Amino acid sequence: MLVDTHCHLTDPTMSGENLHAVLQRAHDAGVGTIICPTADPADIDAALCIAATHENVFATIGIHPEYAGADAARHLTHAQLHHPRVVGVGEIGLDYHYGADNRMAQIDLFLQQLDIARGAGLPVAIHTREAEDDTAQILKGDVSGVMHCYTSSWDLAKKMLDRGFFFSASGIITFKNSDEIRETFKKIPINRIVVETDGPYCAPVPHRGKPCEPFMVTDTARVLADLHGIPLDELDKILLENVRALYPKIPLS
Ligand SMILES: [Zn+2]
Repeated sequence: MLVDTHCHLTDPTMSGENLHAVLQRAHDAGVGTIICPTADPADIDAALCIAATHENVFATIGIHPEYAGADAARHLTHAQLHHPRVVGVGEIGLDYHYGADNRMAQIDLFLQQLDIARGAGLPVAIHTREAEDDTAQILKGDVSGVMHCYTSSWDLAKKMLDRGFFFSASGIITFKNSDEIRETFKKIPINRIVVETDGPYCAPVPHRGKPCEPFMVTDTARVLADLHGIPLDELDKILLENVRALYPKIPLS
């Protein structure tokens, strides 16, 4: 059984009347558990609702750096953080891809949410893009978590390995031009890797261009198994152990 550790089920391509078919296709492909993160604080209620009404869906709640300026404490309430279906805080982090003019506001929101995660005793799902130095500087190792949809350098990976983090491989590792990311994932110990779709984005080969959804995580897992030279069924077991260690609140049988 595979776990899609990061899929935005609140996206219109998967939510509402599409949700049932999306979850059925995941089930048929052997994707037994799905974790739904939030990026926009407006999606938190919807993510909680999906997680509360589907026994194999869990949520992480957090505010993406794109919404820097949002008041984290107002959006991530005590009741939500301690909700039985909320297993982590994410996605949170830094993104300087579109410029860094709001860098201070992003850092402020990131720090607030790290405090909230520590206070709730929850792991974090980190988004980092073109912000390696600040990310390494801020994540000192007093939180546990995952570098989601990891595409940054081996250099940052080494630092975050030392701090106990997991690394999530998305469909990007299947792309033709992703040799460098594949090299990085080859070097990361297999007991520190999990997989995700990051749906609706980044559909893996051979689904590129389509809205990405949980069943496609199997294509990413296949590439990862090849990279590490282990059979897929063995990889499945290792990934499940890794998810158990990363998100202890999920009751995985
Ligand atoms: Zn995401």
